[in-house]
Amino acid sequence: MDLPPPFQPPERVLLGPGPSPTAPSVLQALALPTIGHLDPRFLDVMDEVRGMLRTLFGTANELTFPMSGTGSAGMETCLVNLIEPGDAVLVGVNGVFGTRMCEVARRAGAEVTAVEAEWGRALTADDFRRAAGGAKFKLLCAVHAETSTGALTEIAPLRAVADELGAMLVVDCVTSLGGLPVELDAWGVDAAYSGTQKCLSCPPGLAPISFSARAEEALRARKQPVQSWYLDLTLVANYWGGERAYHHTAPINMLYGLHEALRLVLEEGLEQRFARHARNARAFWAGLAAMELELLAPEAERLVPLTSIRVPDGFDAAEVRRFLLEQYAVEIGGGLGPLKGKIWRVGLMGNGSTRKNVELCLSALRLGLIAQGRRPRGDPFDAAQEVYAESVA
Ligand SMILES: *Cc1c(COP(=O)(O)O)cnc(C)c1O
Repeated sequence: MDLPPPFQPPERVLLGPGPSPTAPSVLQALALPTIGHLDPRFLDVMDEVRGMLRTLFGTANELTFPMSGTGSAGMETCLVNLIEPGDAVLVGVNGVFGTRMCEVARRAGAEVTAVEAEWGRALTADDFRRAAGGAKFKLLCAVHAETSTGALTEIAPLRAVADELGAMLVVDCVTSLGGLPVELDAWGVDAAYSGTQKCLSCPPGLAPISFSARAEEALRARKQPVQSWYLDLTLVANYWGGERAYHHTAPINMLYGLHEALRLVLEEGLEQRFARHARNARAFWAGLAAMELELLAPEAERLVPLTSIRVPDGFDAAEVRRFLLEQYAVEIGGGLGPLKGKIWRVGLMGNGSTRKNVELCLSALRLGLIAQGRRPRGDPFDAAQEVYAESVA
């Protein structure tokens, strides 16, 4: 076989639904020399990662650490550890990730009831209450930030519903962690998971999770062993906690990367980071409105880190994306499932959330529209500039 040359990735501006651009110092951390996963110095890294994750999640939960695997492994960890065959589980479905939660829960043996909302809309406490119809459930599951549509579901009001149903509250924080306030303890969340490649600006590969004391109790009270050996928290927790017992070899360099990514988040400050994400999203929305582009999610239910734009009638959605990639090296996402060909998805996440990227994306979209014969009347840059001028004052 001919030896291929070393791989050199092309230059890309990652403004899709993830991965987001990796911070340069995170790339440097990934390239540091590998040490043993039981080395005393590595144990310090693990402890520091856990401490920083607690701050990001807004929790004092002891059982807080990153699982090996991507965000979906975090989802599966929460569900397989808390579900035993026959358990009733209520899942909010307003996009791809709620749909995926149903599938994972079913495979773990749960009796799943889906709470449906139109894709692009949020789910409310009353939606869950109505769908439950007075029955009892082991888990109430919700996606905080539905990346497939750009809709934000408020989590705090779901605690009262979970209490009425006798359920633990499980939340997907993959696209919210590091980009939007996440307050597990204040909201009364029992289990949550996230991923590294959205608002944390780290490559994909780890799934931070957090379990409340009540979820830990449920784990200890299981009648059957957890169906997945790899994701069994009763085993994995012995490596991250007390005994430091070997379970599987931790992805050491990925943990260096996450350590640095979390450090960067806290160095910026959570409030400042959320404000930066919100400011850039609002400027982007103003620019889109000036070009008469419509957004899928109504403003009150709209996600800051990810914006879904309706593809205007007569436009080839894939062609515009190709134009952005070829002419500007800008990657944006398309629609999934029923929204395929109907929306574009733009992520302004982590290091990708900058004024420069907002203006680049507005410019590239404007020229993409012109290339297909529609010249927007309004000036997107003036509109964005107004938002920036306001937020400085
Ligand atoms: C990306 C994402 C996931 C899945 O994460 P992977 O890293 O792709 O496995 C789950 N939930 C939400 C809301 C996401 O955005």
